[in-house]
Amino acid sequence: MIHFSRSLTRLLGELKKLPGVGDKTALRLAFHLLKSPDNLSALAESLLEVKAGVRFCSICFSITEADPCHLCSTERDSTTICVVEEPQDILAMERSRAFNGRYHVLHGALSPLNGITPSDLKIAELMQRLEKGSIREVLLATNFTVEGEATALYLTRLIKPLSIRVTRLAHGIPLGSDLEFVDAATVQRAVEGRSEL
Ligand SMILES: [Zn+2]
Repeated sequence: MIHFSRSLTRLLGELKKLPGVGDKTALRLAFHLLKSPDNLSALAESLLEVKAGVRFCSICFSITEADPCHLCSTERDSTTICVVEEPQDILAMERSRAFNGRYHVLHGALSPLNGITPSDLKIAELMQRLEKGSIREVLLATNFTVEGEATALYLTRLIKPLSIRVTRLAHGIPLGSDLEFVDAATVQRAVEGRSEL
């Protein structure tokens, strides 16, 4: 059994909190960084810079340096909101060039098994935006996973009584897939072929 210094143990612990990083990868990353002190300093500085300069947009909850973010403050169709799970899903939608409305980031999807309930997501904030009355359509672009579908269903039930059109990306996006990894042409077809729920 190898004993690591307190600082290295802490670094390994922090690395393992990242998605997809287990014991082996954490060790590999840590030793790689230790071999090049310049890289280590640059990484530490960029993490602090991000922490100081990047925040969530107070309207759509995407990641931004200016609040509100450019997607909330530039001229776009303000009658349509596209609901996504994570900020990176916005990139997938924007790459498709098929959507010109506003966005709302939930920061996850409903997952009772993992203890993720509506109050863990930005759902109350979404409802507040909808209650202002100028939104005519909500496009649900949550992932095509069990959790994403359950979230879309839950939101449909909440939003429909407000007499707002609720649509879902057309299937054609492979089941089980995260939006961020779907190619632009497929997302474009899915937006254009979106169906009412
Ligand atoms: Zn925004």
